[in-house]
Amino acid sequence: MNSVISNEEIACQFPILKQPIHQDKRLVYLDSAATAQKPLVVIQSMNAFYEHTNANIHRGIHALAEAATEAYENARAKTARFIGVQDARQLVFTRNTTESINLIAYTWGRKFLNKGDLIVLTEMEHHSNLVPWYVLAEEKELRIEFVRVQDDGTLDMRHYLDLLEKKPRLVAFTHMSNVLGTINPAKEMIQEAHTAGAVVVVDGAQAVPHFSVNLTDLEPDFYAFSGHKMCGPTGIGVLYGKLDLLNAMPPFLGGGDMIKKVTFEGFSTNDVPYKFEAGTPAIAEGIGMGAAVDFLESVGMDAVFTHEQELTQYAFNVLADVKGLRIIGPGADVRGGVVSFTLEGIHPHDVAQILDSKGIAVRAGHHCAMPLHQRFNLPATTRASLYLYNTRADLDALRTGLDKVIEIFA
Ligand code: PLP
Repeated sequence: MNSVISNEEIACQFPILKQPIHQDKRLVYLDSAATAQKPLVVIQSMNAFYEHTNANIHRGIHALAEAATEAYENARAKTARFIGVQDARQLVFTRNTTESINLIAYTWGRKFLNKGDLIVLTEMEHHSNLVPWYVLAEEKELRIEFVRVQDDGTLDMRHYLDLLEKKPRLVAFTHMSNVLGTINPAKEMIQEAHTAGAVVVVDGAQAVPHFSVNLTDLEPDFYAFSGHKMCGPTGIGVLYGKLDLLNAMPPFLGGGDMIKKVTFEGFSTNDVPYKFEAGTPAIAEGIGMGAAVDFLESVGMDAVFTHEQELTQYAFNVLADVKGLRIIGPGADVRGGVVSFTLEGIHPHDVAQILDSKGIAVRAGHHCAMPLHQRFNLPATTRASLYLYNTRADLDALRTGLDKVIEIFA
């Protein structure tokens, strides 16, 4: 084992991974791109909140309300530091990446984009970085163009520069593809988009959980990610925005907490980030997110990335001579821990179902990236996705399982 982290030791901290599946099978969890498992410290942090600190935040004057507010705001500050952001006011807590991107489209997009404006997306986007823009484009008569994905699963950067010549108002792209594993050159792409005068939205759902992301260095205008993909709970996500943009944007949802004053005549909005956090937020989940940040920091994001790269290379080796197997996307050295593949003549759903019977959890389908599958002329793929708790033994099990699939369908 060359990995810099002992993943067996890490795996021990995830109760679900010790639980057998289908009565007596060892759970081989290869679906972390959909959602990651949660370490005990995250689960305990949420239990502790409900057992000892539960109260609504920001409004109360009693001790519990103050403690709950402090815990929630500490989680925001920790998450901000984790992604290299100095000013935690720039972090809006949302439900997930999808809501973060919708928030931008519904507020910034509605206010600042006008008929005929161009939005540049890429062919490898998740539906959550496509559909909000489609909805907005329909409403405001905007144009959308897509940066081409090359056969090797990387973006055609020449085409990107050509599209920037058309002076888009907005560029939105994923930091890492949830299907191809491609890690896009975000810093370079952001700089080029800024030179062309565009506002840049980065979908970091598959990036923040897997490698060190520093937004002070990257300088996107907006950056979105989800807690549940980074060992945190479901129901909590993040939208980072530059302060001047957030200040200029109208609110998203109306209600409690997002206002400063309400009269019979109208209302005035609260300061950021509260302006975008109407109603009682996911308090325990926010605190769980803070615990997930602590957990990932204790391992170290560079160690997480190195481990996943090593395992991805191992996955490529293990899968190399599986008959009829084709991996889509770039080589193991330039991708994150996502391996999507096809098996000639066997539908991905059948592959996933047989693997499941062996205790191996993978995903089959379009992975919320239908246009990308269309680009590769594939109705669906099977996806094995890795995280810090996976081991070489998991990939050996995948190989054995695939041999079984082929045997059944031979
Ligand atoms: N973007 C990417 C690249 C993803 O992989 C996902 C989820 O799989 C999302 C966005 C959406 O995340 P969520 O469902 O947490 O909103």
